[in-house]
Amino acid sequence: MVSLPFTLKNESLLHTKAYSHGEWIDAASGETFDVEDPGTGKTFASCADLGPEDVDAIIQSSQAGFKKYRHLNPRTRAQLLLKWHELIMENRDDIATILTYETGKPLAEAYGEIDYATRFTWWFAGEAERIRGDISTPAAPNRRVLVIKQPIGVCVALVPWNFPIAMILRKVGAALAAGCTMIAKPSPETPLTTLSLAYLAEQAGFDKGVFNVVTTSNKNTPAVSEALCKHSLVHKVSFTGSTNVGSIIANHCSVGLKKVTLELGGNCPFIIFDDANQDQALSQLQTLKWRHAGQACVTANRIYVQEGIYEEIIAKMVAHAKSLQVGHGSGASVNMGPLTTSRSVDKATRQVKDAVQRGAKVVHGGNPGAGGGYFFEPTILRDMDGTMSITHEESFAPIAAVYKFKTEDEVLKLANDSEMGLASYVFTKNIDRTWRMMEKLEAGMIGVNTGNSSAAESPFGGMKMSGYGKESGKDVAVAEYLVSKTCTMTIE
Ligand code: NAD
Repeated sequence: MVSLPFTLKNESLLHTKAYSHGEWIDAASGETFDVEDPGTGKTFASCADLGPEDVDAIIQSSQAGFKKYRHLNPRTRAQLLLKWHELIMENRDDIATILTYETGKPLAEAYGEIDYATRFTWWFAGEAERIRGDISTPAAPNRRVLVIKQPIGVCVALVPWNFPIAMILRKVGAALAAGCTMIAKPSPETPLTTLSLAYLAEQAGFDKGVFNVVTTSNKNTPAVSEALCKHSLVHKVSFTGSTNVGSIIANHCSVGLKKVTLELGGNCPFIIFDDANQDQALSQLQTLKWRHAGQACVTANRIYVQEGIYEEIIAKMVAHAKSLQVGHGSGASVNMGPLTTSRSVDKATRQVKDAVQRGAKVVHGGNPGAGGGYFFEPTILRDMDGTMSITHEESFAPIAAVYKFKTEDEVLKLANDSEMGLASYVFTKNIDRTWRMMEKLEAGMIGVNTGNSSAAESPFGGMKMSGYGKESGKDVAVAEYLVSKTCTMTIE
């Protein structure tokens, strides 16, 4: 630990070593890597930097844990998940503080993420007892067919830095409910929140090897991820991150034919028709766009506004953006923090420059923020078109790119003109149009008159280059961690 810029009520939540088989471990190399506060750019912790040579022992111990855990009564698994849930909620203040210092997000958003994330522990605790097989109608009188469901085995979760608690609990909750064990590799930017969850999982009573955390640097990440994905004892990998890395992970998994879920990038259209409730559309847009400074896979990337209300919507967006308090996430009145990495500031700067060169106008912001930390001003671009790089490339920054459209057919074509297909949003009062848009938009999740289409009880996931497999939701999420065996018999 270097020098902590915050204090915690429960200091035992803070760990910097990796966690395997119920023990806190260093890297075999003894190396560590630094964790920065994006609000200042200063290092405040250093974590064990595991390498590929550390991976086999962790998988072996998780396999040993699996042999026991798989036979645990589903009700006991549910009780353990609920106990974990309860402990996370008891330590909500401290976890929110760590989350704010790792990611940069304002404290209120950190609390929001914890509340969203713990919906998954709660939901999957319930699902543990609802795992069922099936009995088919026999094709012949002396034939019986039965389908049994069993946990798939040791699983791996590879997660990004933008929602480090929610992404972990969405995967680990489902795996542990199913009777699998899990090895999580958090992003090198945000290992501390995952380690605090591991500490609480131990306190909740999960046995050794059930939940494990591999901490590793950006330098070691490719080799460590490859070793995790290709190990013969790993049977399922769930990855959330960029589309580029997702395809690398899919390649690793193809070697051993591993079951894989890919939750990848988005480039989500947000469409406002001129018959929409404007106040509703704007308030949803503002929450969605500025949350975590635009660093959400489901954020509004391409904002399409019908021509009759285009000027009015832009004027209202600018007025609201002027009221945003940008600063360190720990500030009481701050409602937008920094970007999590310096790479993101460089990318946002390049995207704005490119759009302006191609004819867009900056009506608010447009520049990196002043002072230390990885700040970028809340930015509104108008007169956007399809020639600009930000139209086709996820921005992951506080850039609201606003396009004008005339007709429903036109906007449908523009919205679907993307390799990505994660989420889409439509604001209209016209019920016929609502149906047409829901059926024709190419996205795994569609919000109608809402900017929030993610919940524990509904399937989360995309189509096209946004990936495949679903997380959360009835039936589908836990099924990703089960194998199905068809047992056919003849009776006398
Ligand atoms: P990323 O792809 O760079 O990293 C994701 C994970 O992969 C991290 O654990 C990282 O350490 C690891 N990784 C990075 N390079 C690797 C490599 N070469 N080989 C193996 N592993 C590697 O993504 P990010 O920058 O952390 O997160 C932002 C991206 O995540 C965005 O594209 C966003 O849309 C996406 N995302 C998607 C969802 C979803 O549910 N669809 C949710 C959140 C974020």
